[in-house]
Amino acid sequence: MGNWKMNGSLLTIKTLCEALNGIADTSAHVDMAVCVPSPYLFYARTNLKGVCLGAQNVSHHDDGAYTGEISTSMLKDFDCQYVLAGHSERRALYAETNVEVALKAKKITDAGMTAVVCIGESLDQRLSGELEKILFEQIRVLFSYLSLKALANIVIAYEPVWAIGTGLAATANQIQDVHAFIRQTITKFNENLAKNVRIVYGGSLKPSNAAEILALDDVDGGLIGGASLSGKDFGEIINQAKRKTCLR
Ligand code: PEP
Repeated sequence: MGNWKMNGSLLTIKTLCEALNGIADTSAHVDMAVCVPSPYLFYARTNLKGVCLGAQNVSHHDDGAYTGEISTSMLKDFDCQYVLAGHSERRALYAETNVEVALKAKKITDAGMTAVVCIGESLDQRLSGELEKILFEQIRVLFSYLSLKALANIVIAYEPVWAIGTGLAATANQIQDVHAFIRQTITKFNENLAKNVRIVYGGSLKPSNAAEILALDDVDGGLIGGASLSGKDFGEIINQAKRKTCLR
């Protein structure tokens, strides 16, 4: 899944959509999606072929006097299938709390879309040994707000904050350990869900590290920021994802 964040113009989005259409391969068992800046959702919906549409944020309110916000029903109008909830940039810059993230995830799944819930630790939290505590709490709050039916419609994105946009991805060992911890934690809530939930990795995923990261046992895909702004790089990452599903 690509996340274009607040990048691009109508012209560059047009070029990227064309590049993605060239990469899309409906015969492969890889779900390819891109989270587009909201003003370009209509363009992307009309012009993307074989690529699912995602949004980067949504309100946890239905509608009303919430200037600047976007509702789940608006996103549905543009055939969005995925919505990010709790991206670390939103947690850090807009003070989104675990509870707000859970409320958003609930709204998204209630609307029949998939919530891609981002969790992860800062470097300070990792260095002070708080990694598991932080992730457990992010998962606990999410699970306390969503029904089992709703939880079947979430993807967990493990995104160590220190790896996002820094060029410095977590190592394969770090990623596998954390993904296994997340799956184990979810087992405590529901075993079946733990087996089936998709846990994707995000944080400086790029063509040079995609093969190693995407091949890890507990990694079920990627959330890709910077590299998704290049059709060529995104295509190479998608090809590595296809190789994994072929090998399974
Ligand atoms: C992200 O923003 O979710 C992300 C993973 O960014 P990047 O790939 O640029 O680190």
